[in-house]
Amino acid sequence: MTLESLKPTYADVCLASQRLAGVAHRTPVLTSQTFNDMVGAQVFFKCEQFQRGGAFKFRGAYNAIAALTELQRAAGVLAYSSGNHAQGVALAARLLGAKATIIMPSDAPESKVKATRGYGAEVIHYDRATEDRTVIALDIQKRTGMVLVPPFDDHNIISGQATAAKELFEEVGELDALMVCLGGGGLLAGSALAASGLSSTCKVYGVEPEAGNDVQQSFKSGSIVRIDPPQSIADGALTLAVGEKTFPIIQRLVTDILTVTDEQLIQTMKFFAERMNTVVEPTGCLGAAAVQHGAIKIKPNQRIGVIVSGGNVDLLTYSRYLSMPI
Ligand SMILES: *Cc1c(COP(=O)(O)O)cnc(C)c1O
Repeated sequence: MTLESLKPTYADVCLASQRLAGVAHRTPVLTSQTFNDMVGAQVFFKCEQFQRGGAFKFRGAYNAIAALTELQRAAGVLAYSSGNHAQGVALAARLLGAKATIIMPSDAPESKVKATRGYGAEVIHYDRATEDRTVIALDIQKRTGMVLVPPFDDHNIISGQATAAKELFEEVGELDALMVCLGGGGLLAGSALAASGLSSTCKVYGVEPEAGNDVQQSFKSGSIVRIDPPQSIADGALTLAVGEKTFPIIQRLVTDILTVTDEQLIQTMKFFAERMNTVVEPTGCLGAAAVQHGAIKIKPNQRIGVIVSGGNVDLLTYSRYLSMPI
């Protein structure tokens, strides 16, 4: 392993924490006696659905843009995303005085486009079927000198996402296990780094949709597996392959990768709505669903942390999920 692949370190997580102090919300840690009784453990939900922009993505985006030189920031930042990363980058850029351009598919939900424009970003549309967004991004980069902010495979993104788990440990103390939603692995790699600095006992688990278990396959085989576009309601976790920077950290610090089904996600989403009065998007339910549906063996009264990653879901879609007879 090269020295570079061992980065970022826990010290980088602390630096990200300092950058985010007073800017990111210190999101609440919620508990539910009903959930604890149901699973036979003490569960602590770190609620990033209440983060600025509605998901943890703001943490990494802000940390990455704050780490740029003034000259780079003056050129502006660029991102491609149809989801929470778009809003995180747009908001972080505005707060740091940088221009942001977000490349979104032309069929992206109108609510997401509106929210991203609302944070002051310019939205450029592309046709998913005929155009390649990386080519468009490269072209804009060449013409304008704008800096690309990647969604997960970047050291500053990873150490920014790590601050959610850092806050959780600081608030509740030692944990036996930490469950983390998993797409490209920025949140998981970061959470594992935070655990490595703040806990001596905590096992860290990544949870991805069963239909898109590329990281589970990669973790088992020891090299990055790329899959075809998966079908799952967890739209924030449909990445086709884990990152080249996130994977070595996951291999080194994560205990295992678990999966849950869409039906299990819906059950957990309903639990959050009905019993905890909070809206969580499907992807945000991954960690909690793994605990609720027995994906890990729980010993009585173990202390389990869960990162609830976001709450941005189209209302019509959400109400459809809630009314499904599952
Ligand atoms: C992006 C996202 C994830 C996955 O994060 P990665 O760092 O790509 O693994 C999980 N949940 C939500 C709500 C997200 O927006």
